[in-house]
Amino acid sequence: MVKGQWPAERPVCREEEFRAAAGKFASGVTVVSTRNGAEVFGKTVSAFGSLSLDPLMVSVSIGRLSPLVTAILASEVFAVSVLNHDQQHVSRHFSTQGNGRAVGSFPTVATERGATGAPVVADCLSWFDCRLENVVGGGDHAIVIGRVAAAGSREGRPLLYFDGGYRELRQPAGAVRAHG
Ligand SMILES: Cc1cc2nc3c(=O)[nH]c(=O)nc-3n(C[C@H](O)[C@H](O)[C@H](O)COP(=O)(O)OP(=O)(O)OC[C@H]3O[C@@H](n4cnc5c(N)ncnc54)[C@H](O)[C@@H]3O)c2cc1C
Repeated sequence: MVKGQWPAERPVCREEEFRAAAGKFASGVTVVSTRNGAEVFGKTVSAFGSLSLDPLMVSVSIGRLSPLVTAILASEVFAVSVLNHDQQHVSRHFSTQGNGRAVGSFPTVATERGATGAPVVADCLSWFDCRLENVVGGGDHAIVIGRVAAAGSREGRPLLYFDGGYRELRQPAGAVRAHG
């Protein structure tokens, strides 16, 4: 292509090309969760970002028709739990259709109540307890932005996702550290 000229037809990226390229981005694995009245909601999400330091904000991208988005809009709070290397079963639970909604508490995954009331996955590697700041449209997903009310972390190895599979980082575990 000559510099400054566009081809007659703009190239169109095929979905499989997009998926293959996106799969080469190694990420951690989180569970995004909320409580709305008697119901709890959770979903495995890798599209997480530490968005802003001033103010402290995070973002997650969630399928826009998911009941989780509706629940977060209603409760105005949510938690992001970053999973440990030994929590692959938690990721599988919350990525299985129909498992992300329960009354009272999740049947097989223990949670602790965050300061906002949102459920945080027990024994996760780190967590962000958030008040809803904004929801922005992003195609078929909703970008949910939260202002961080509290966060905590411990030493350990993260659960990773790369090229369609779960991976582990080799790193020695250390002492527990927490931030209020
Ligand atoms: C490693 C990993 C990372 C992931 N990262 C992300 C991520 O970043 N963001 C993300 O959104 N997902 C992500 N997922 C996928 C997500 O975890 C699962 O798709 C989801 O939890 C499947 O459960 P569900 O369909 O019951 O959930 P929900 O989306 O909560 O849907 C519940 C029900 O609502 C209805 N519904 C939902 N969507 C529609 C729709 N489009 N049309 C009609 N009805 C609908 C259906 O009845 C559905 O069963 C990830 C999965 C894995 C394994």
